[in-house]
Amino acid sequence: MKKYILALDEGTTSARAILFDKESRIVAVAQHEFPQFYPHAGWVEQDPMDIYANQYAALTECIAKSGVSAEEIAAVGITNQRETVIAWERSTGRPICRAIVWQCRRTAAICEELERAGHGEYIRERTGLRIDPYFSGTKIKWILDNVEGAAALAASGELMVGTVDTWLIWKLTDGKVFVTDCTNASRTMLCNIHTGEWDDGLLSILGIPRSILPEIRSSSEVYGTFECMGANIPIAGIAGDQQAALFGQCCFEAGDAKNTYGTGCFLLTHTGERAALSDHGLLTTVAATEAGRPMEYVLEGSVFVGGAVIRWLRDEWKMIHEAKDSEYFANKVLDTGGVYLVPAFSGLGAPIWDMHARGTIVGLTAGSNKNHIIRAALEAIAYQTEDMLCAMNADLRGIYEGEDKTVSCLRVDGGASANDLLLQMQSDFSGVTVKRSANSEATAAGAAYLAGLAVGFWRDREELKSLAGEGESFLPQISKLTRAEKLKGWHRAVRACRTFAEE
Ligand code: ADP
Repeated sequence: MKKYILALDEGTTSARAILFDKESRIVAVAQHEFPQFYPHAGWVEQDPMDIYANQYAALTECIAKSGVSAEEIAAVGITNQRETVIAWERSTGRPICRAIVWQCRRTAAICEELERAGHGEYIRERTGLRIDPYFSGTKIKWILDNVEGAAALAASGELMVGTVDTWLIWKLTDGKVFVTDCTNASRTMLCNIHTGEWDDGLLSILGIPRSILPEIRSSSEVYGTFECMGANIPIAGIAGDQQAALFGQCCFEAGDAKNTYGTGCFLLTHTGERAALSDHGLLTTVAATEAGRPMEYVLEGSVFVGGAVIRWLRDEWKMIHEAKDSEYFANKVLDTGGVYLVPAFSGLGAPIWDMHARGTIVGLTAGSNKNHIIRAALEAIAYQTEDMLCAMNADLRGIYEGEDKTVSCLRVDGGASANDLLLQMQSDFSGVTVKRSANSEATAAGAAYLAGLAVGFWRDREELKSLAGEGESFLPQISKLTRAEKLKGWHRAVRACRTFAEE
C-alpha cells in the first residue's frame, strides 16, 4: 500500500528531503547543508559530489526518521536551485569541474559579447529571458571553452551537462536516465519556450553541441525508478524551485500569483497557456506542466534585496537580534514618520533595471529613530513587490485584452512571510488579499504534488486544491488615497537613489 510521496528539495545551501502523506501533511524532514566555494570575486561554486551525497543522506535519513518503509513511498519528486550547471564524464560519472552556481557572474564578458553581437532580441523571443550570466547557457559555454579536456570529451560523446535535477536523477538511476524538465530547461537560455525543445540557433550561437544536453520532459511523469532501501521507487516529478512553489501554492490559472519572501523575493504569476513577452522588464518562463497538457507559462520578477535588508539591519547595524524582532520594533511606531529606505545595494531589478542605483535612506528628521528605520525596511520589501506586481498586471492586461486576469490574491511563502506586519503592508500597498501558504513547505509540496499526480497518488489539480488548506489572509486596511500617497513617496525615494548614482 503506497501511502507517501517523498520530495527532494535541493536548495542553494542545503539539500532536504520531506515526506508527505496523502493529505499533504509533513511526516518527516531531514536537511544537510553543503559548502559553497568563492574562488574569485563574483564566482560561486559547489562540489557536485557534495550536492549528491548530501541529498542522498537527507533522503535516507528522512525515511529512517519517519519509520516508514521505502515500499510505502509511491514516488519521489525533485525541486532544485535553478540555473546551476554541472558537467561530468559519461563513462565514469566523474564531474569535470565544480558546479557553477546560479549566482556566479563569471560569464559577464560572454554576455556582453552576445549583447554586442545583437542577439538580445532573438534570445528574448525564443527563451523569454534577458541576456544575463545568471542563466545556464553561458555557464555551459564557459566550461566548454575553459575546462581542460571538456571540448574533447564533448566531441567524443563523453560529456554530459545538466542542471542539478539532471545530475541527481542520473546519479540516483545509476546513469540510466538523462533528463530535465521544461521548467529547468526554460532557465538555461537555450530552450525555445514555445516548443519546449533545445533551440538549434541558440546552441550554435553559443557553440554547444546538442548531444551533451539531456532530453527535455514534462514536470510530471515517470522518468525512471531507483533502488532505495530495498524498494524500487519511481522518480515522477521535477520542477525548478520557484515553479515548484507556484505549483505547491496551487496557482494553476492565469492571474494566480505567488511571492516567496526569502533573501530576495520571487514573484511568479501564471499566464495560462500564453507565453507572452513582458513590456515591463519581467521574464517569461515555463510553469510546471504535467505530461499530456499544453505547456503553461508564467511571468517572473525578482527583488534582489528582500528579507536580506532585515538581515542587514541585524548584522551590520545590530538594530535587532533576530529577523523576527523586526516586527516587534516596527510595531512600536504607527508609521515611518516619512522615512523611506531603498535597499538598492546592488542596483534595482525588475521593473526598473538600474544596475548603478545604490541604497539610500531619505526623509530623516531629528525625531527619526531605529523603529522608523526598521519599519521603513519592512515597507521597502512590500513596495518593491508592489512595483513588480504593478508591472505584471500591466502585462496581464495586454495579454488578456478584455478579460480581467489581473492579480486579486497574492499567495505568499518563504522565511519572511512569517512576519504578519509585512504581509499587512503588502496587502495595503497592493490593494489585494495576501494569503500565507498553509503549508510551510510550499516548494517541496509542489515537487510532491507533481510526482503524486504522475503516479495517480492524487487524482488531479482539484484534489490538490482541496488538500492545500487555508492559510491566514490579510486584507487591505488603508484607503486608496493613503495608498497612493505612500506609493508616491516610495517612488520619490527610488528616484532620489537613482539620481544620486547618476553623478
Ligand atoms: P532563503 O531561502 O532565501 O535563504 P528564507 O526563506 O529562509 O531565505 O528567509 C530568510 C530571510 O528572510 C532572511 O534574509 C531574513 O532576514 C528574513 N526573515 C526571516 N524571518 C523574518 C521575519 N519574521 N521578518 C522579517 N524578515 C525575516
